[in-house]
Amino acid sequence: VTVTGSALEQAGHELAAEAARYAAAGWMPGTSGNLSVVLARRPLRLAVTASGRDKALLSPTDVVLVDQHGKATREGSAPSAEAGLHARIAEVTGAGAVVHVHALAAVVAGERWPGGLPLRDLEMLKGLGRAAHDDLVLIPVVANDQDMRMLGDAFEAGFDAATPALIVARHGLYVWGRDLAQARTRTECLEWMLRLVITTPLAGNAAAPPDRSTP
Ligand SMILES: [Zn+2]
Repeated sequence: VTVTGSALEQAGHELAAEAARYAAAGWMPGTSGNLSVVLARRPLRLAVTASGRDKALLSPTDVVLVDQHGKATREGSAPSAEAGLHARIAEVTGAGAVVHVHALAAVVAGERWPGGLPLRDLEMLKGLGRAAHDDLVLIPVVANDQDMRMLGDAFEAGFDAATPALIVARHGLYVWGRDLAQARTRTECLEWMLRLVITTPLAGNAAAPPDRSTP
């Protein structure tokens, strides 16, 4: 399987447009975060946003083709080290697109629910493909690591096919979907729920913060 230059260029256009939206939301500060889209399955090839660029100002050429390990397949821009986790997620979940943002609400939620964030009885859960009632959704939280293999192992250990998201503690959020549009919808809905639970104690909800007043 070869990925043509025009397929990569098309992906570059789409990734630049998507990244501008996430950057405008304040979720990709200081060049952080990255987006990817799968261009081939066997072997796995992903187009990933280039490292170190202002995500509000990406051009269609700020894209790197990487393999199943997140390594660049040709000369040119360096992919982010995080491309390794994008590739792992795409491999394990079968997703067609992966979003990684440094949304503050995800980091706050990871701090409050280090064992995983439970969400239930929220209309916005429909945006994750889950039910708005009586469906307990656990967003996994894993410790941050600079080694993408370690992060990938932690992700895979807690992976549940019905939950297309992962919080990396003190770091950010990964969300995936069949394509960039679905991944964006899911990211927006989840980030909204994260902001809700970190700012609002929800009566009778499993997502109420743990009581820290008793020893
Ligand atoms: Zn990151």
